[in-house]
Amino acid sequence: MPALGVKAGEVREAFAKRNLIGHLQALQKIADEEGGNRTAGTSGYEASARYVEDQLRAAGYTPIRHVFTYWDEDQEADREIFNILADTAGSEEHTIVVGGHLDSVSEGPGINDNASGVAAIIETARWMAETGVQPKNRVRFAFWGGEEIDLLGSQHYVDALNQREIAQTALNSNLDMVASPNGGRFIHDGDGSRYGDAGPPGSQEIETLFRDYFAKNSLPAEATVFDGGSDYEPFLRAGIAVGGLFTGDVGTKRQIK
Ligand SMILES: [Zn+2]
Repeated sequence: MPALGVKAGEVREAFAKRNLIGHLQALQKIADEEGGNRTAGTSGYEASARYVEDQLRAAGYTPIRHVFTYWDEDQEADREIFNILADTAGSEEHTIVVGGHLDSVSEGPGINDNASGVAAIIETARWMAETGVQPKNRVRFAFWGGEEIDLLGSQHYVDALNQREIAQTALNSNLDMVASPNGGRFIHDGDGSRYGDAGPPGSQEIETLFRDYFAKNSLPAEATVFDGGSDYEPFLRAGIAVGGLFTGDVGTKRQIK
């Protein structure tokens, strides 16, 4: 069994060679062919889901659809949407949920937001499978549906957990918008040192892990606030440690003298 620590040190180099852009191009093509977007409940979402499931299956995973319905006020009808979940081996007692939303807004293809997070998660899953990493704790890869409709997918997932399953969820790492053009490296402010609102216990350790990684590789990084705007929020409210990365959306990076 390969030692996990050794493998983790190889991640950056390994990822530099991986075709993350290929996933962005594939999801852009899907949006182009399906009316310009990949919104939950549409054909663009379904095609995106099949793409992700194919990738996971090819890597040896068994993805499942976590289906639920919600009342669509605009359509005045029940609408069915779903998350995609795929697990590694490892103990379920301390499950690590690595998630990002698969749906886009209705106004566009959703490439930074959030094909980028999807690409990073697919490649993480593939890398783990190909290198034969045997995680001690189970990693659950989650592709949320309906983030752009009030965090529907992640909220439904957390609501469906019983007390025991909540206790077994060690943390949620969220990837939403990780390929911003003109992007910065933002780490969620787990300890509250920058924005005053710390995440649940354990969130500080997640922030520290990312911080140390960037520092070790001489990459500048900043904290970003938990503003409730992405899928970590239902986990945070359930008292589960949360963290993750973000590269920016509407702000413009400028030089600070
Ligand atoms: Zn997003």
